[in-house]
Amino acid sequence: MKKVSRYKCEGCSFTGNKKQVTEHEKTCPDVENVRKKNEQEILVKEMQSNIRLKAKSISHLEQLLNEYSKATGENLTVSLSIQFKENVRWSHSHHAPIGKKTNWGSSDPTQPTSYPGYEGRVEFIKPDKTGEYAGHMFTGWTRGGKVEGFHTGSGGGGYEAKYDCYLFIDDFPLIKEKVDKAREIAKQADIFDENERIKSAQLSDLTKEKLKIDPVTQSYANEIQKVHEAQKCLSQRANQLEGLIIQRRQDVKLFTLDENPSLKAEMNQFRAHSNSFWSKALHDL
Ligand SMILES: [Zn+2]
Repeated sequence: MKKVSRYKCEGCSFTGNKKQVTEHEKTCPDVENVRKKNEQEILVKEMQSNIRLKAKSISHLEQLLNEYSKATGENLTVSLSIQFKENVRWSHSHHAPIGKKTNWGSSDPTQPTSYPGYEGRVEFIKPDKTGEYAGHMFTGWTRGGKVEGFHTGSGGGGYEAKYDCYLFIDDFPLIKEKVDKAREIAKQADIFDENERIKSAQLSDLTKEKLKIDPVTQSYANEIQKVHEAQKCLSQRANQLEGLIIQRRQDVKLFTLDENPSLKAEMNQFRAHSNSFWSKALHDL
C-alpha cells in the first residue's frame, strides 16, 4: 500500500494532487477573497493592540476607534465623552493599566487604589440595525475582543448603546506625554505664582520699614498729629462759645427790662393774663 497525499484549495473545497490544486488556485476567485479576509483579520488584530500606542489625543483615539470599527465591517459611529482624572478609582477595582494589578475592593493595601486616566461615557451607534448589537466588539464579548487599554463598564442599549468607559494614561504613551507636559506647565505656573506672592510680601514689608524711617513721611505724620490736636481744641472752644452766647442773651434781656420799667409792667400784665387764661382753660377740662 502506498500513501497518497491530497491537497485542498485555500479558497474552496476543490481537492487534487499538488499540481492540480496549484493550477486551480491560479484562477479560483475564492482564493483572493480568503487572502483579503486574512489580511483584514490581521489588520484588525494589529489595530486592537496598536491603537493605544498610536493615539495622540482623545479626539485622535476617537478617530482610531471609528477606523477600527470600519475595519471590522461593523461600521459603528463611536463617540467619546470622557474627562481627565488624577484618580480613576472605581474602575480600578475591575481594571488596571497593562502590567499593573487590579485591586478589587482595595483588598491589597500595598497596591494603589487608583491610577490617572480618563473617565466618562462612550456611545456606539450602528447604522445597520441587524446582527450583533453595537459595542460588542469593544466590550469583549464577541468579534475578537477588546481594543487594548480601552475599558468599558456598565451600559448597553442594543444598536444605539452607551457604556461607562475609562482608560489609564499609562496605557497610552503619546497621550501620557501630553498629560505630563500639561502637568509640568501647571507646576511651573504654581511655582511662578508662589514666587510672585513671596516677592510681593517681601516688597510690602520693605516698604513698611522704609516708611517708618522716611523723614518726609515723619514730618507729615507729625503735622497731622498737631492738626488733630488743634481740631480737638477748636471743637471744645466752639461748645464753650455756644454756652456763653445763650448766657449773654439772657443777661441782655434782663438789662433791657431794667432800662425800660414800663415794659416790665406790661410784661407782668401779660403774664398775669396768661396765667388766668390757663387756669380757666384747665378748670374747664
Ligand atoms: Zn478554489
